[in-house]
Amino acid sequence: MSDEFDRMLGDLRTRLAEASDLQNANEVLAWDQTTYMPPGGVPARGRQMAVLARLAHETFTDPAIGRLLDKLAPQAEALPYDDDNANLIRVTRREYMRATQVPADFMAEATAHGAETYDAWTRARPANDFATMIPLLEKTLELSRRYADFFPGYDHIADPLIDRSDGGMTVAEIRPIFAALRQALTPMVEAICAREPVDDSFLHRHYPTQAQWDFGLDVIRQFGYDFNRGRQDQSAHPFTTSFSIGDVRITTRIDEENLAEALFGTLHECGHALYEQGVNPAFEATPLAGGTSSGVHESQSRLWENIVGRGRRFWRRYYGPLQAAFPEQLGDVDEEDFYRAVNKVQRSLIRTDADEVTYNLHVIIRFELELDLLEGKLAVADLAEAWRARYAEYLGVSSPDDRDGVLQDVHWYGDFIGGGFQGYALGNIMASQFYARALEDHPDIPDQIEAGEFDTLHTWLREHIYRHGSKFTAGELLERVVGGPMKLEPYLAYLQEKFGPFSHIDQ
Ligand code: ZN
Repeated sequence: MSDEFDRMLGDLRTRLAEASDLQNANEVLAWDQTTYMPPGGVPARGRQMAVLARLAHETFTDPAIGRLLDKLAPQAEALPYDDDNANLIRVTRREYMRATQVPADFMAEATAHGAETYDAWTRARPANDFATMIPLLEKTLELSRRYADFFPGYDHIADPLIDRSDGGMTVAEIRPIFAALRQALTPMVEAICAREPVDDSFLHRHYPTQAQWDFGLDVIRQFGYDFNRGRQDQSAHPFTTSFSIGDVRITTRIDEENLAEALFGTLHECGHALYEQGVNPAFEATPLAGGTSSGVHESQSRLWENIVGRGRRFWRRYYGPLQAAFPEQLGDVDEEDFYRAVNKVQRSLIRTDADEVTYNLHVIIRFELELDLLEGKLAVADLAEAWRARYAEYLGVSSPDDRDGVLQDVHWYGDFIGGGFQGYALGNIMASQFYARALEDHPDIPDQIEAGEFDTLHTWLREHIYRHGSKFTAGELLERVVGGPMKLEPYLAYLQEKFGPFSHIDQ
């Protein structure tokens, strides 16, 4: 490439780094707000974060960046498709268009409305008061439709909203996958729930905080989480945040009467963090740093949490140490009973507490309700009732109140309606595709897990997925890694083997 190309690329990188630094500084403020900030900090912190968000947006949408991208694009197209510079230009261009297509005053209106709605929701949920949320959600729905209309030419009105979190995915692609998934899961849930219920009461004995904390950290250290480039703290809702490739933090929530909460929460967030820590350092401070979509991100959190962390081979190695950490609580519980308890399948109301089998039904319900709202088939005033009806139909349970019904998830109460949920189920599906492929390359991975060794799996994931950051969309990544599009079969085979008849659990 020419000197001129290099000069313009250097200029672009400098500008992108500034936007990224402003954005990441804001992430530090957000992390502090949810971990250590005293309540008195709230008003100033809101103001500070709004200023940084505005500056980051202005820096990234500077017309000078648009001009550089226009000049660089033709030369980038001449480079091989997987070339880092070509991808930097292509991905930045896509994000630049997305960011500039939407007028700044619209985004300001949406952000202000999101903050007001979130604030109202924090009071409405404990009060079980959906009625006060209706006018706010009606406005959210209107804003969501207006957002979509900034991207004319979409097939489905939800597509531009889905594109924000799962770039390149569309309703046309997701709807048949979810329909087939639901069709496969419904009889599976029925069969499992017809069995003798699993006793998991011992998970609710008293488990002191420090021992829980130590055990979780010990496991993720062995997974390969790098504490020189990360740390764990406590927060009300667990999350992963990254300020740079060299500083990827996680949080957890510890409940002394529920062993599963922090344990599996920590493994889940560690999966997100391994992804972010594994990105090619050359992508630092560019749009290529960080995971490529919510679905691929979730595929990694759920791979480490469920496929590894709720697996039989994992507990063959780790149940002894867990018993040693909690001799009074688990001394009378054998490994088999523990394994069944942490994999208990049941019809339940709360998505975040759901088991591996029913979890996707919670997601599908939300995805379908989002589409109904956006298509105008469902009015916000009827949403709580529609929620109950769909839970009764899909899961065979129905919440008596809205607190654990339509008010349970934050997503609609602070962001747009649309695109907020599909990634959770897409992640489960992709996790199984990736894992099946890793097993083809390294059939001894399960033996290694049983020996407490995770290096082969971690290295394989870093090599095939993590290091690419946002270079490829989920679809491109699947094509490269498994050689085809998203497919349900590996996931259904995994569920069938683990939870179906003749599985270890069905004895
Ligand atoms: Zn997650």
